[in-house]
Amino acid sequence: MLSLQLFSANPNPILLNPSLKPVLNHRFLKPQKPCQKRKPTAISSVLQWNRKPELAGETPRVVVITSGKGGVGKTTTTANVGLSLARLGFSVVAIDADVGLRNLDLLLGLENRVNYTVVEVLNGDCRLDQALVRDKRWSNFELLCISKPRSKLPIGFGGKALEWLVDALKSREEGSPDFIIIDCPAGIDAGFITAITPANEAVLVTTPDITSLRDADRVTGLLECDGIRDIKMIVNRVRTDMIKGEDMMSVLDVQEMLGLSLLGVIPEDSEVIRSTNRGYPLVLNKPPTLAGLAFEQAAWRLVEQDSMKAVVVEEEPKRSVLGGLFSFFGG
Ligand code: ADP
Ligand code: MG
Repeated sequence: MLSLQLFSANPNPILLNPSLKPVLNHRFLKPQKPCQKRKPTAISSVLQWNRKPELAGETPRVVVITSGKGGVGKTTTTANVGLSLARLGFSVVAIDADVGLRNLDLLLGLENRVNYTVVEVLNGDCRLDQALVRDKRWSNFELLCISKPRSKLPIGFGGKALEWLVDALKSREEGSPDFIIIDCPAGIDAGFITAITPANEAVLVTTPDITSLRDADRVTGLLECDGIRDIKMIVNRVRTDMIKGEDMMSVLDVQEMLGLSLLGVIPEDSEVIRSTNRGYPLVLNKPPTLAGLAFEQAAWRLVEQDSMKAVVVEEEPKRSVLGGLFSFFGG
């Protein structure tokens, strides 16, 4: 299957080098060049793609993961891209700014370790470093939650408070993190405005359906109004079988509609749901899964401020049985 080649459990390091930009066609996720067959490799070697990605732009890179519509995969993206960045050697602070429906801690399996949140920091009940939960698997990844479930936010908590927090993270004794990733709530109300305020760049997560696309389009306009010009998109929950049957929009269609550069394409994968329920992010799975590898590729592109292309590639005409026989006999 062509899609398996792009996200194969055994990624060809040449293919994963983002400078070669994997190509998508409108029907399949298809690499530009045919993959060489290789022996299956362990996940550790997946990260050794000949070189370490070069960090582009000024640090800390403050990235908001947003969408407009809920349930499209923002939190999943924050957890998996965030941990991928940490595995690539970058220091990452992930902020769960989805105050009402906080669940990044659950996806990361860190829910029992959140003793303090930003609310306690702002009330002067604890220090900022006490509210940062360091991941035991990747010590350069830290989680920061805004509030505890069901607790009330201080009146006036908004963009300014989040900006203050980002500034405080920048001036920590141990140094500024390379990435601050903000998991944005759904919708375009106060929570959304708060989450995007300190960001310099945005990753817009969308699924290939019209409701999600309409919301994504609206959010793109709002981000631009807020001065965020660097907006890339991740198309999540892509099903090649449905695209083939013309029951789902292709990645190219999505890109043409939104006019954004493409950071990644994540297939629909039941492993995502399994990993969500286990609190064990997909990118840590051994052997790696298709969606996990796609998230890793997206993280790589984010580091280098690179993007991938969606292009229409004509399908090869099917050879007739007779033609096949002739070629079999060297005809
Ligand atoms: P959001 O933060 O945008 O509300 P979530 O990241 O919480 O969305 O994801 C919503 C649901 O969709 C979760 O149950 C998650 O496991 C599932 N999901 C997300 N991405 C995928 C995918 N690529 N394949 C299958 N399920 C997915
Ligand atoms: Mg969420």
